[in-house]
Amino acid sequence: MTAFTDIQYLKGVGAKRAEILRTKGIDTVGALLRFFPRKYLDWTRVTPANSAPFHENVCVRAKIVTPIEEYNTKSKIIVYKFIAEDESGKFFVSLFNQKFLAERLKFGGEYLFYGKLEGSFITRQMNSPIIKPVDYNVIEPIYPASRDMSSSQLSCLIKTAVKTVEITETLPQIIIERNNLCSLRFAIENIHFPMSAAAFEKAKHRLVFEELFVLQTALSIIKLKAHQKSGCAITVNSFEEFQKSLPFSLTNAQKRVVLECISDMQSHRPMTRLVQGDVGSGKTVVAAALCDVVAKNGFQSALMAPTEILAEQHFNTFNNLSEKSGLKCGLLTGSMSPKKKSTVKEQLLKGEIDLIIGTHALITDDVAFKNLGLVITDEQHRFGVAQREKLTKKGENPHTLVMSATPIPQTLGLILYGDLDISVIDEYPKGRQKIDTYLVDSSYQARIYKYIKKFLDNGQQGYIVCPLVEDGDELGLKSAKEYYKTLCENEFSGYSLGLLHGKMSAKDKEKTMRKFSNGEIQLLVATTVIEVGIDVPNAVIMLIQNADRFGLSQLHQLRGRIGRGTLKSDCILISDNQSSDTIKRLEVIKNSTDGFEIADKDFELRGPGDFLGNRQHGIPQMKIADIFADKEVLFKAKKEALLLLEYDPKLKYPENKELRQEVIDLYKRLNQK
Ligand code: ADP
Ligand code: MG
Repeated sequence: MTAFTDIQYLKGVGAKRAEILRTKGIDTVGALLRFFPRKYLDWTRVTPANSAPFHENVCVRAKIVTPIEEYNTKSKIIVYKFIAEDESGKFFVSLFNQKFLAERLKFGGEYLFYGKLEGSFITRQMNSPIIKPVDYNVIEPIYPASRDMSSSQLSCLIKTAVKTVEITETLPQIIIERNNLCSLRFAIENIHFPMSAAAFEKAKHRLVFEELFVLQTALSIIKLKAHQKSGCAITVNSFEEFQKSLPFSLTNAQKRVVLECISDMQSHRPMTRLVQGDVGSGKTVVAAALCDVVAKNGFQSALMAPTEILAEQHFNTFNNLSEKSGLKCGLLTGSMSPKKKSTVKEQLLKGEIDLIIGTHALITDDVAFKNLGLVITDEQHRFGVAQREKLTKKGENPHTLVMSATPIPQTLGLILYGDLDISVIDEYPKGRQKIDTYLVDSSYQARIYKYIKKFLDNGQQGYIVCPLVEDGDELGLKSAKEYYKTLCENEFSGYSLGLLHGKMSAKDKEKTMRKFSNGEIQLLVATTVIEVGIDVPNAVIMLIQNADRFGLSQLHQLRGRIGRGTLKSDCILISDNQSSDTIKRLEVIKNSTDGFEIADKDFELRGPGDFLGNRQHGIPQMKIADIFADKEVLFKAKKEALLLLEYDPKLKYPENKELRQEVIDLYKRLNQK
C-alpha cells in the first residue's frame, strides 16, 4: 500500500467511512498520515498534586482514598465524588453523569488523572478528569473529531496506516543530512504516536521544515518560471509627463517605486512585484502612473480591488487623473447590469478601453483583452495566488503588480511572498499630520459626542465604527443599525448621518459612500466594511466603539481612513474591557502609528494562529508550520530551496522525484482556492 492508495482500501475503512474521511480532505492513505493531531495528552509526565499549577492540564498519579459517593442534583445531573491522594497531597474529584466510568473505579485503586486543578492551596479540586490505569504511559494524540468520527477512531485508522503503508522519503538525502533531520517514517510515526517528548520534537521539526521547504521551492519555481518568459517590453517612458499632470508632487518613495517598476518592465521578462506601503502612503497614484506608462506603450492594464466600493473609488480617481492624459478607463463589477457589463467587455476586447478597474468580476471566463500588459491587484492579502494567476492568464505574460498594506513584518514578507520582488513606500505624502489616538471608557461618551460635533460644525466629517451590524445575542456590543437610529434621533439630530454595513446591497453601499465622499453625509456610522482603502481626506475624526473587539492590525487599518489630508485628525477608542491584556493591546495602537511595528506587537500579543487563521494573506494554510514561531526554520528552508533549484531548477533528477510530486500537489492546492 502506498501513500497514493485510495483511502477506501485501508483496513477498517469502508465506503461509508471513506465518505466521512473525504469530507475532512482525506482522499488517500497518504493524506491520512498527514492528518496531524490537534493536540496531545501527555500521560508520561506525572506531576505531584501539591505542586501542579492551577488551571492547566496536568497528569497526576493518585489513589482513591474515599468511597465513591453519588449525589443527585436539582438539575438532574448525577455527580460522583471522591478524594484522591498522592504522596504530596489530596484533591477532590467530581465526575458528572459518568456512571459507566464511576462504577469501574475502585476505592483504594491507583489511577492516572488528567485534567485541570482548581481551587486553593488548601482544597484542590479536579472536575471531570480523564482517568486511565497507571500503566497508560503514552503521549496520546487528539485529532479534530466530528460527530461521525471520534478522535480515537481516527487514531485507530492512523495506527493501521502507519503499520501498513510504505512511507517514501520526500526530502533529498543531502538536505536531510545537512539539516540534521529525521527520516519521514520516523517523523510520521512520532508525530502521531510519540515514543518520547524528544522524539516528538524531532518529528515535528522535520515536518515543519518539510512543509516550509516545499512552499519555498514552489514559490521560487514560480518566480524562476515567470522570469524566463518574455514580457511586454516597455520602451516609452512617459513618467515625467504623467507627474506634470498631477495636482501634487510625488514623494521620493513613490517616485523610486514607480521607477523600480518601470525598470522591471523595460527588461525582457515580466515584472512580478509587490508594493508594500502603509495605509495612506499613496499606493493608488503609483498604480495610476504605471497604467499610464503601459497605455502609452500601447498595452491595456487591469486593476482588481477586493470590494465594489474600492473599485468604484479607484475608477473615479483614475478617471480624474486620466482626463488630462486621455486614457480611457472602464469599470466592471458584479452588480452592474448585464447590458453595461457586456458593453464594457466588448470595448475591452476591441482595445477601446486602456484601463479596466473591477472586482472579482474581472476574472470570470468571458472577460478577454486585446493586449493585456499589466495586472494590478490592490490589497493583495484579500486575493490568493491563484486568483492573481487567473487574471494574468488573460494576457501573454503581462507584468504583475500587487499592492498591499498588510503589515506583515518586513523580513517575513520577503520570504512569504517568495515569488515576488518587493518595493516599499516608506514615506508619507508631505503635510500629513500625526493622528492622535485616545483610549477611554464609555463614561466619556457624552463628552466625545460634543467633541465630534465641533468638527462637524467646522465642515469636517467623521466615522463611528461598531463591531456588529445588527443587535444580536452579544450583550453590550454596539450594533451599527441600532446605534445609527439612536444617534439620529438623539445626540446628532439636526446633523446628516449615514449608515454603512456589509449586509447592505452593493448599490446602497455605493450610494452612501458617494454621499459621504461628496460631503452630503457628515458622520458615517459603519462596521469594518470601511476598513479597506476608502479615501475621504475631509474625514478627520473616528470613534471606535468596543475597540477591544477588533484586532490591532484591523484597528490600524480602520484608523488609516482618517489623517489622509493636511488636516489634524483624532481617533478615539472606547473600551470598557478592563483586562490587562486588552489594555496592553489597545495601548499599542494608542502609542504607535507604524503599521509594521503594530503588526509585530499584534503577533506577539495575540499569537500567530489568529492572525493567519483568517486566511487573509494569499498564503496557503499551513498544516503544521507556524511561520512566525518557526521563522528560523523558514529562513533555512528558503536557503535550501534556492540552493537546490540552482543545480536542479526543474526538479528532474531522480533524487528529487518525490519532492517534485509534493510541489505539484501544493500547486494544485493553491489553484483550488
Ligand atoms: P493607500 O496607500 O492607503 O492606498 P491612497 O493611495 O489612497 O493611499 O492615498 C491616500 C491619499 O493621499 C489620497 O487622497 C491621495 O490622493 C493622497 N496622495 C497620494 N500621494 C500623494 C502625494 N505625493 N502628495 C499628496 N497627496 C498624496
Ligand atoms: Mg489603497
